[in-house]
This record gives sequence, C-alpha cells and structure tokens, in this order.
Amino acid sequence: GHLPPDPAVDTLVQEAWDRYRDVSEGKVADYIPALAKASAEWFGICVADVDGGIHAVGDTDREFSIQSISKPFVFALVCQALGGGRARASIGVNATGLPFNSVMAIELNADRTMNPMVNAGAIATTSLAPGANAEARWSFIREGLSRFAGRELAMDHDVYESEAATNQRNQGIARLLLGYERMYSDPDDATDIYTRQCALNVTARDLAVMGATLADGGVNPVTRERVVDEDRCRRVLAVMATAGLYEQSGDWLYEVGLPGKSGVAGGLVTTAPGKGGLGVFSPPLDAAGNSVRGQLATRFLSERLGLNLFASK
Ligand code: GLN
Repeated sequence: GHLPPDPAVDTLVQEAWDRYRDVSEGKVADYIPALAKASAEWFGICVADVDGGIHAVGDTDREFSIQSISKPFVFALVCQALGGGRARASIGVNATGLPFNSVMAIELNADRTMNPMVNAGAIATTSLAPGANAEARWSFIREGLSRFAGRELAMDHDVYESEAATNQRNQGIARLLLGYERMYSDPDDATDIYTRQCALNVTARDLAVMGATLADGGVNPVTRERVVDEDRCRRVLAVMATAGLYEQSGDWLYEVGLPGKSGVAGGLVTTAPGKGGLGVFSPPLDAAGNSVRGQLATRFLSERLGLNLFASK
C-alpha cells in the first residue's frame, strides 16, 4: 500500500477520534422510526489499507444499518453483471445536485435516468440485479455485499419493518420510473429488495474493508477474493464522486478530494484508490443526511494521510 507506515496511521486515526468525539452538531435520523434508537455518542473510525492492515478506534465493531452505503456496492455488482456501458445507459451517471429522495431529479433529466447514488437510480439499479425472481435477486445482492465486507452480512429486521411501513415515497419513485421505462423489474419488488439491502447490518470496520476493496481494484484485501473487476471499480468511484454525498457532493470533493458515500444510519465510506478505505460511524447527521463527525474525521484523515486525488504531491 501507499499509506504512511502503520504506527503513523494508528496515531492519526486516534487523533481524529480525539479531535471530533465532543462535536455535538447534527441530528440522529428519525424519518425511519427504528433509526431514532441510535445513540448520538457512538463514534468509530477505521482505516483498511490495500495490504489488509486494519487501523480502528472507537465503536468500530458496533452494527448499524448500511442504508445508502449499499448503493455503490450494489451498483458495482450490477455493473459487473451488465457491463459499464449498459449500466450507464439504463441507470444514468450524472450528478443530480439534489437531495437523496428527490423526485424533481427524475423530472428534470430529459432521458429520466438517474445517478445510482440517489434513491431513484439506486432502486433502478436494484431492479437490474440478475435473478429469476425477487428472492434470487435479493440473494445476489446480499451475497455480493457480503463478499465486499468479507463476512456474511445479515438484515436488521426492525429497521427493515420500520422502513417498509414508511417508504411510500420510495414506492412512488419506483412507479414514476416505471412510467418512464426506467424500472427493469416489478417496481414493488425492486423497492422491497432496496429496503432490505438498506437494512443490512455493517460495522465501521466492514465499511473500511468494503471501501478498501474498491481501492484495491475489486479484490477484498482481507479475504483476497475478487468481488468485481478493476474496470467496474472505476465506474463505481466515478458515480460516488458525482453524487455520493447528494447535494453536498461538490463541497465534499472540494474539501476531501475522494469518492465517498454516506448513509442515514450514520455510516460514511471513503475510498483512496490504490491505497485504502475509510469507514466512519457516527449517527448525528447534517441537513443533507450526511454524518457530521464522519465528514470531519474523513476530511482530517484525507489531509493528514495525503489522500486527496487532486493533489500533485
Ligand atoms: N433507506 C433509506 C431511504 O431510502 C436510505 C437513505 C440514505 O441512507 N440516505 O430513504
């Protein structure tokens, strides 16, 4: 890998945690009722390098639902199955500049395609997962995400039931896409599988390993298993850079200079290509739905580890 030596990374991860542990801005998500049970105190930071080294401080083994961080990994699996060209034509890759659950984003785009990092594009992506029926498509996604994490991921039933009972807006988005011929299997099945994928439990450590798998050209650096091909990883990192933090993706790229993806349970994954992955967990979110401490810790580590993609040295 090309991160600084291990002890230096350990020191910086600890320093990031110490610096931001007392930040009290942000609000734990409650639009999915089960998410409101999270503690605002939980905070974990993990860096996984492409050689399989792990640097973890804080609540890095505590499970939480992956939520929108499933989006880049499901897109990777669907890209692998379809090819990058077909994925782009069917789903779309342009930035939306709009909130994650925007319906206007669909209306404003002439060909009705949508970046897979926002709900509309993500549900369209899930509808393209290969499989003869909904159960097979769900297995494809759950097993694929588990390979990225390097362990068997399981669904949080409380979170799933809670979101399934309150996700009328996502159901509406899927039907709108169907009307525009941008939904590729039954819209209710696609929304249900999307809701399940969002309820898969992960840890900050899992996120770091998943991010490091994208950094490593599709090979999980811990299990050494190839999950997707190198050229698919590049596509995934491109869509993360354009819309991974929704309407704040520009601010994020400006400050951090790396592709990232946030989730409303408080997770944040970031990939430094060829170097490693960062996983942060801290439930309080800003107005766009991005973890406040997650962003601060990642920005600090990107700077101090010298990870910004736009830096010449
Ligand atoms: N499951 C959530 C939703 O669709 C994911 C949103 C997110 O993490 N930003 O509303």
